[in-house]
Amino acid sequence: DSYEGWTGKFSRNSTKDSIYAPNGQKPVRAALVALVRNEDLYDMRKSVRELEDRWNHKYNYPYIFLNDKPFTEKFKQGIRDLTKAKVEFGTLEEGTWGYPAWIDQQRAKEEREKADYIKGGSESYRFMCRFQSGFIHKHPLLRDLEFYWRIEPEVHYYCDINYDPFVYMKKHGFKYGWNIAPDEYEPTVRTLWKTTVDFMKENPQYVADKNILDWVRNKDNTYTKCHFWSNFEIVDLSFYRSEAYQAYFDYLDRAGGFFYERWGDAPIHSIAVAMFLQKSQVHYFEDIGYYHPAMSHCPKGSKEGGSCVCDPGEGWANDFTCAKRWRAIS
Ligand code: GDP
Ligand code: MN
Repeated sequence: DSYEGWTGKFSRNSTKDSIYAPNGQKPVRAALVALVRNEDLYDMRKSVRELEDRWNHKYNYPYIFLNDKPFTEKFKQGIRDLTKAKVEFGTLEEGTWGYPAWIDQQRAKEEREKADYIKGGSESYRFMCRFQSGFIHKHPLLRDLEFYWRIEPEVHYYCDINYDPFVYMKKHGFKYGWNIAPDEYEPTVRTLWKTTVDFMKENPQYVADKNILDWVRNKDNTYTKCHFWSNFEIVDLSFYRSEAYQAYFDYLDRAGGFFYERWGDAPIHSIAVAMFLQKSQVHYFEDIGYYHPAMSHCPKGSKEGGSCVCDPGEGWANDFTCAKRWRAIS
């Protein structure tokens, strides 16, 4: 009942999964992926430990860790000690971390000094958001992947996961899987919606016919601030590699809001989902119990309930407006 990395033996005796493994290959080329700093080692170890215990010890999907600085031996060993799955470590490619040439760095600095919201004063946080928005899916270590599952330090997986979410996504043709949907803090995305509207006007060919724009667009054509919290996301990477997504990212990057404001990868991924996909291509992983600092989702009476350590009454994140709005749209 185990997988041996996607190039290795597939020996699971399940008809549900084995349709994707006709030649003894791993059913989906996928990995757990995190951008992290060396100093995140112990918080990352907590996340990996739980993921292994709750899920990956049965599946052995590889891990990929990326960093703008070289990983220390201590970090690498500290992660490898926790899993028998393959683990890869990489640094970022030139041009994918930092400022593009057209950004006015003086203005960026002034905006940071004025930005009195969380991480408003941080330059590296902006590099991080830009990287996660436009470059992570193009990193050479991810080149052969069909899917990634994004992970972060300091998260919790509350329940056993007794199936393969990658296979589930692939089988159903889901492109984007999410778990918590809060609303964004307005000052971080002041002009993101206006820029998106301009993008759609100039590029109407990319917008899906049966799109989900009603999730992110109010009746008066303002942004609802709804987004999927991207610290958990399971994604068919062909979505981020698509011409439409690339065009959208380039357009946003030119506009400068990563630096003059503090645009996050979460609202960007989410608005892209709303423009380019239809609802049937997006999956809410209601059954995956999850916590990231500040918010949690505890499955309500899911089939995994017996193994969950969270209180369903306190997994409140998705009682918020945005998750309700998601359920209401078609
Ligand atoms: P939050 O979830 O929005 O509060 O942001 P985090 O601080 O958790 O950062 C998101 C992810 O990016 C985490 O996995 C961090 O470890 C990682 N990260 C944030 N800033 C940096 C950075 O400057 N360098 C590297 N290598 N990773 C970073
Ligand atoms: Mn985080």
